[in-house]
Amino acid sequence: MPELPEVEVTKKALQSALKNTSIKEVNIRNKNLRWPVEEKKIRKLIYTDIRKIYRRGKYILISCNEGAAILHLGMSGSLGVFDERTEYHKHDHVEFILENNKAIRLNDPRRFGCLVWTNECPQEHKLIKNLGVEPLDDPKLGEHLYSLSRNRNTAVKNYIMNSSVVVGVGNIYASESLFRSGISPVRSSKRIGRERYRKLAVEIKKVLNEAIEMGGTTLRNFTYYNEVRKVGYFKQKLFVYGKPGENCKECGTEIKARVIGGRNSFFCARCQT
Ligand SMILES: [Zn+2]
Repeated sequence: MPELPEVEVTKKALQSALKNTSIKEVNIRNKNLRWPVEEKKIRKLIYTDIRKIYRRGKYILISCNEGAAILHLGMSGSLGVFDERTEYHKHDHVEFILENNKAIRLNDPRRFGCLVWTNECPQEHKLIKNLGVEPLDDPKLGEHLYSLSRNRNTAVKNYIMNSSVVVGVGNIYASESLFRSGISPVRSSKRIGRERYRKLAVEIKKVLNEAIEMGGTTLRNFTYYNEVRKVGYFKQKLFVYGKPGENCKECGTEIKARVIGGRNSFFCARCQT
């Protein structure tokens, strides 16, 4: 599943693909994504000045004078940039053809992704407005995590994976940042002090930034971007995620697996308290 780092890498690729060119055609080859793609509205992007391409949580927003397209990659979506004559791949559902004869294609086998249009300020859109803070941009993330947790008696791993608290901390990043900050994933979020949340915030940022540098952890389709050829490298740097039964790299204790909030969770019971 594309996580925040993959979406960030995709956003950067989209920014560079759309630099100094315009969209000249929109092809909706299959409108049945999570919600039906409204072709007429998406066509507003044709020959318009794209003001800004940015990310909010795992959504990519493409904004122009008339509104904004909001894109989500769902469970299995990816964007690719091709020569416009390249044959379609199976599951290429949406295509933007550019003036420079390149084509940006959205491929999504499971079709849980979406491409919707809004005329309002995208920050006010129902998909966007209740999202929590951005982990990479917020200099006070630790403080935010601390103050919002005072009344919440939930396992800290679930707390930091709650996108109304902080966006984009997926299972892998939650497990790793908790290990690196020495916090047990099952500890109640309200029983963690300010200093530990500050440390956790630093580690969340680090682990996400490392994954962004590597082009994300889960992108599988190497035909898409050069950046993702480095895929897999990040996985070698994981301490606990997907490693039950292995010895902790810090203390040698066996890594444990437990289901927390319906998600597989991995931790070292000695290093994490
Ligand atoms: Zn350990």
